[in-house]
Amino acid sequence: MSNRAIQSIRGMNDQLPDACDSWQTVEQTIREVVRLYGYREIRTPILEKTELFHRSIGEQTDIVEKEMYTFTDRNQDSLTLRPEATASCVRAGIEHGLLYNQTQRLWYLGPMFRHERPQKGRYRQFHQFGIEALGWPGPDVDAEIINLGTRLWQYLGLVEIRLEINSLGSPANRARYLEDLRTFLESRHDELDESSRRRLTTNPLRILDSKDSGTQAILDDGPDLASYLDDEDRRHFDCLLEHLERTGIEYHMNSRLVRGLDYYTGAVYEWTTASLGAQNAFCGGGRYDGLVQQLGGLAVPAAGFACGMERLVELYSQQRSITEMAGAEVWMVMLGDTAEAIGYPLAENLREAGIQVVCNCGGGSIGKQLRRADQKRALFAVIIGDDELENRRFTVKPLQSGEEQTSMAEDCLVDFFLAQRNREQSAF
Ligand code: AMP
Repeated sequence: MSNRAIQSIRGMNDQLPDACDSWQTVEQTIREVVRLYGYREIRTPILEKTELFHRSIGEQTDIVEKEMYTFTDRNQDSLTLRPEATASCVRAGIEHGLLYNQTQRLWYLGPMFRHERPQKGRYRQFHQFGIEALGWPGPDVDAEIINLGTRLWQYLGLVEIRLEINSLGSPANRARYLEDLRTFLESRHDELDESSRRRLTTNPLRILDSKDSGTQAILDDGPDLASYLDDEDRRHFDCLLEHLERTGIEYHMNSRLVRGLDYYTGAVYEWTTASLGAQNAFCGGGRYDGLVQQLGGLAVPAAGFACGMERLVELYSQQRSITEMAGAEVWMVMLGDTAEAIGYPLAENLREAGIQVVCNCGGGSIGKQLRRADQKRALFAVIIGDDELENRRFTVKPLQSGEEQTSMAEDCLVDFFLAQRNREQSAF
């Protein structure tokens, strides 16, 4: 058997501890924000029956055509690692009767799988945080979801974020538009870029977000989606825009904005940023009024968004200041066996009071232990050496602030560290 080191699967990343610190902060902020809006978490399995995604995302989409991790299990059932979670939320909602004469405000966070070509910001296992509001037909809920997202970006300190928005209209109006778009593009077939030519037969709507400038110029002469909206579509969309204006949310109309999944109807939007390079969209959503019925449920209107966690964490990390990357609150420096016999129980007492303590393991001189604590960016060292043992007082040395060290009795330590923490937080 080979003893060569085994590597992870291409496009599937380990999140190392430094990265996990940022992930945890982002996740906590998400939890705080969804709570403010009354959304409740739903967790669904990572594996679903393949048919679920065929029926929801659409047969002719990139995801279903070429990106799903699909396999036959031991019972000969065709299963798929979920490429997104809206279909699973809807499936679970129908299966457990959550949508029967009820409305639901849901959120989820978890891994998704798409067999795409890996590059920065595009992975084969990635994570999405998503919002699903099921049961409300009006634009009020679309606005609520956009407000929620905006508040989250604010709380994470993101800057230069752009909200692009469009309306795809009702399915019937969109179908009329698609028909005309296809006829128009067929007449210009030879001028289109290669992937748009392919999409002409499979999914012409996706040609609207082609990156090819020649194709974009051709589209300028083509039918305009906005003129296919009827009064009802327009009323819904205008009302949404008014809601956004009332809450001070800036948006940019983008009549070429479409989404990669077939189930979207009506208002669709995407948040983009210039800070992520080519993969500039980090969150996208809209209405999907037909999906619940399409998956065997009642006609339940729905809206939501999915946000790429890798991209969100990257944006957050670009923004956050170095001071937030502090290490443990206390590093316990202990010289010799007697010091350890006192230090370990003392560390437990501090932890009991909620103070984060890392004990120096592996010995070493006091100087060496302090260097280690400093490297790990600990805020304070508690030093137990010969003098401290003799006097039964502990030396507390601030490691990051440059302040003088002090010495104190054991029963003062908890209050001291809690007071330090309050001081830090109020300074922040
Ligand atoms: P979608 O479900 O395709 O509408 O994508 C919603 C969001 O998920 C995107 O804006 C990205 O932030 C993120 N996302 C989608 N696919 C990937 C991927 N392969 N790798 C990383 N993030 C992704």
